[in-house]
Amino acid sequence: MGTPLTDIDSLDAELIECRVCPRLVEWREKIAQDKRASFRDETYWGRPVPGFGPPDAPLLIVGLAPAAHGANRTGRMFTGDRSGDFLYAALHAVGLASQPTATHRGDGLELFGVRITSPVHCAPPANKPTPAERANCRHWLDSELKILQPSLRSVVVLGSFGWQALLPVLDDAGWQIPKPRPTFGHGAHIELPHPGDPGAEDPLHVFGCYHVSQQNTFTGRLTPAMLEAVLADAAHTAGLGPGQH
Ligand code: SF4
Repeated sequence: MGTPLTDIDSLDAELIECRVCPRLVEWREKIAQDKRASFRDETYWGRPVPGFGPPDAPLLIVGLAPAAHGANRTGRMFTGDRSGDFLYAALHAVGLASQPTATHRGDGLELFGVRITSPVHCAPPANKPTPAERANCRHWLDSELKILQPSLRSVVVLGSFGWQALLPVLDDAGWQIPKPRPTFGHGAHIELPHPGDPGAEDPLHVFGCYHVSQQNTFTGRLTPAMLEAVLADAAHTAGLGPGQH
């Protein structure tokens, strides 16, 4: 990396050119070329998917990685698949999104005080990035957190992969992580002080939530009510309330 990235537009512009992980570059481009039959007339994004939402958001949602025919097709986080349908319906239900659906960039969807990102920005085969790929992608999350830090108050982490990826990055950025490191669980809630940041008098609140994958939502392991409860809690903690937008 050259100059440190201090604004979100520069970060996103560099991110979408990234080709560091050979396996993921090959996979994301192959998917974009082969396509799913139902999307054969569409031009797939087929590149790294940047975070979505305002750069001064008090609340951050951290997922896993783009889905092959969802974000890797549409170019926007959680957009165009069933996981996204589930997430955006819940965000809308608690007043954090302008509409309950996310179909494509340019569909008018707006997030209120929330940004969504992932620790791996390219679609991986079988939704499973390798540890090396996660390590390659870590600096993007690190830069994004640094940009968000002045406003950031709460994080909702969807699934254990995101949890394990995020905590070391928060640690490096100066937040105090308890030892032993807290484990992921749905309903987990930890508070992390940041003694080195004079502007941050409040701790960062990190919430664990099952991932919105179909494996969880189709089986009822994660229900809309469960997701909405975590989001509402995190939004409240972040100072986002009904009518703030
Ligand atoms: Fe680059 Fe991250 Fe994609 Fe790897 S996963 S190619 S580091 S954007």
